[in-house]
Amino acid sequence: MFIDTHAHLYTGEFDPDRDAVIERALAAGVGRVVLPDIDSTTREAELTLAARYPGLMLPLLGIHPTSIREDYRDELAALERGLARHAARGIGECGIDLYREKTRYKEQVIAFEWQLHAARELDLPVIIHSREAFREVVAVLKRQHHDMRGIFHCFPGDAEDARRVIDLGFLLGIGGVVTFKNSLMATVVRETGLDRVVLETDAPYLAPAPRRGTRNESACIPLIAAKIAELTGRAASEVEEITTRNALELFSLQPQTSN
Ligand SMILES: [Zn+2]
Repeated sequence: MFIDTHAHLYTGEFDPDRDAVIERALAAGVGRVVLPDIDSTTREAELTLAARYPGLMLPLLGIHPTSIREDYRDELAALERGLARHAARGIGECGIDLYREKTRYKEQVIAFEWQLHAARELDLPVIIHSREAFREVVAVLKRQHHDMRGIFHCFPGDAEDARRVIDLGFLLGIGGVVTFKNSLMATVVRETGLDRVVLETDAPYLAPAPRRGTRNESACIPLIAAKIAELTGRAASEVEEITTRNALELFSLQPQTSN
């Protein structure tokens, strides 16, 4: 069984054929899909999908850094209510994005720290989004005085950055980018190995080669695993086994049951 640790299958891109997308994921061997939250406008769709496929879909609650606007206090309040009402499997995705959203840096940091605190209170893993903000995200993490666990989603660095992230307690989320030509991720998985790696699609974005540029979906996970197998000289089944074990452990899941 594979686990897709990052897929936004509840967004409008999947409205026409969501059930078929999920059937294809299951047929491809993907037995669990983690649904990262974006903000209060997407939360209901996400939780509805998770409720429709209990055990298969694992919903997270959080606020994406590009959703941090002047009303971010309201977003945090809505998130707090959501966390009180729903059993989230983790916090996120949260973090800092200075690519799409340069203007709200201070507010992004406040919201990120709030979510790290919530994760500690609830003893949940954190799924981190970092874009053009690796140093800033690491600085925030280093200011936390508690153990953290989670995933650096769509891991954005080189092998040395990977080591720093792992030392902070995080796993590397590796997705379609690893299949792109001259991808830095290829070097990272070769040098870092698989002990701290989980697989993700980031559907509907970042479809792996040879489907690059099309809508991504969880059924593409084996393409990512195959590329990692090729890069690390391991069998695809080993990549599946190790990355699934890492994800099960992070989300405190049993391998066989559907809890
Ligand atoms: Zn995402």
